Amino acid sequence: MECPYCGAEMENGALQSSHGIYWLNQAAKFRPPQWVKHAEGLCDADNLMQSPYIPASRCPRCRKIILTY
Ligand SMILES: [Zn+2]
Repeated sequence: MECPYCGAEMENGALQSSHGIYWLNQAAKFRPPQWVKHAEGLCDADNLMQSPYIPASRCPRCRKIILTY
């Protein structure tokens, strides 16, 4: 995949966390994101056996990440 910003070839990989990946309208600065009322979990794999991740592509040149959740 080519980066839509600069045209460089993007690297395939994963955005991964040890405790879930969430979307919030504003960053939760003083509490875990899963405690925020309208936090949306973006992946299902959130258990003790598998760390949650979302397949993604990144452009190291302009530091953009594109993912599908
Ligand atoms: Zn780029």
